[in-house]
Amino acid sequence: MTQMNYTDKTTRVAIIANGKYQSKRVASNLFSIFKDDPDFYLSKKNPDVVITIGGDGMLLSAFHMYEKELDRVRFVGIHTGHLGFYTDYRDFEIDKLIDNLRNDQGESESYPILKVIITQDDGRVIQARALNEATVKRIEKTMVADVTINGVKFETFRGDGILVSTPTGSTAYNKSLGGAILHPTIEALQLTEISSLNNRVFRTVGSSVIIPQKDKIELVPQRTGIYTISIDNKTYNLKNVVKVEYFLDDQKIHFVSTPSHTSFWERVRDAFIGEIKS
Ligand code: NAD
Repeated sequence: MTQMNYTDKTTRVAIIANGKYQSKRVASNLFSIFKDDPDFYLSKKNPDVVITIGGDGMLLSAFHMYEKELDRVRFVGIHTGHLGFYTDYRDFEIDKLIDNLRNDQGESESYPILKVIITQDDGRVIQARALNEATVKRIEKTMVADVTINGVKFETFRGDGILVSTPTGSTAYNKSLGGAILHPTIEALQLTEISSLNNRVFRTVGSSVIIPQKDKIELVPQRTGIYTISIDNKTYNLKNVVKVEYFLDDQKIHFVSTPSHTSFWERVRDAFIGEIKS
């Protein structure tokens, strides 16, 4: 697609939609608006702004598509269902979104993300970033793993697995496991157990633990075998994991700042509590 009048002031925009009919319709609507607008240039390569259309899952996928360009990319989510946690606009608010992008001064809302380093016994090292969380599980048998926080041996975990979430991920899988909800401006990680074994012989702390920015979490599995590791919406089966390290990444995710940004507490209330009768 060729667009004319590309200048330094032009915003390069990538549009990414899921396969739902409604999302495709919104995407094609946006394409036709941006195509003839000299303020915007449609490009999936080196975008300034990535617009996702769908739900939180679509935003998670877009984050991973552009995770190596986080220092220069800002995201905006359009939801084609209920308002999500990463989506500021509903599908009927496109005009509002375009107005906001036209008046945009480059401001962003930035939230911490998680860095995970997985080491296998053959020396292979995998590095990943997560926007919501990373989990480590041992499906075939009880997972036994030593948990170290900031160099202190904290516990020997026995159970299904361990989840480490970001503040914005705290309302996702972490919450289903009984973890706390963290405001996204709090720079911390949360370590949450997945079905820990607790009896007179085996002990874990039992509650989720909030870890400050400077501290590293280390998980050292005590058994060989296959470990199932999830990073947001992707899952990997890895053999003989020796160590998994978790830190707050030095990069953050940046969202285009919007004047109509729904407050975090409103989102939490609407998602989990609903109408409050007075
Ligand atoms: P999906 O389609 O099954 O979506 C899961 C749900 O999680 C959706 O309703 C989505 O809106 C919601 N969600 C995603 N991120 C959220 C966030 N930060 N806060 C609140 N809700 C959020 O799966 P997907 O779209 O591929 O998303 C993957 C995510 O699903 C994972 O990152 C994980 O957090 C979540 N998940 C949850 C459970 C659980 O709650 N038991 C289990 C597995 C995965």
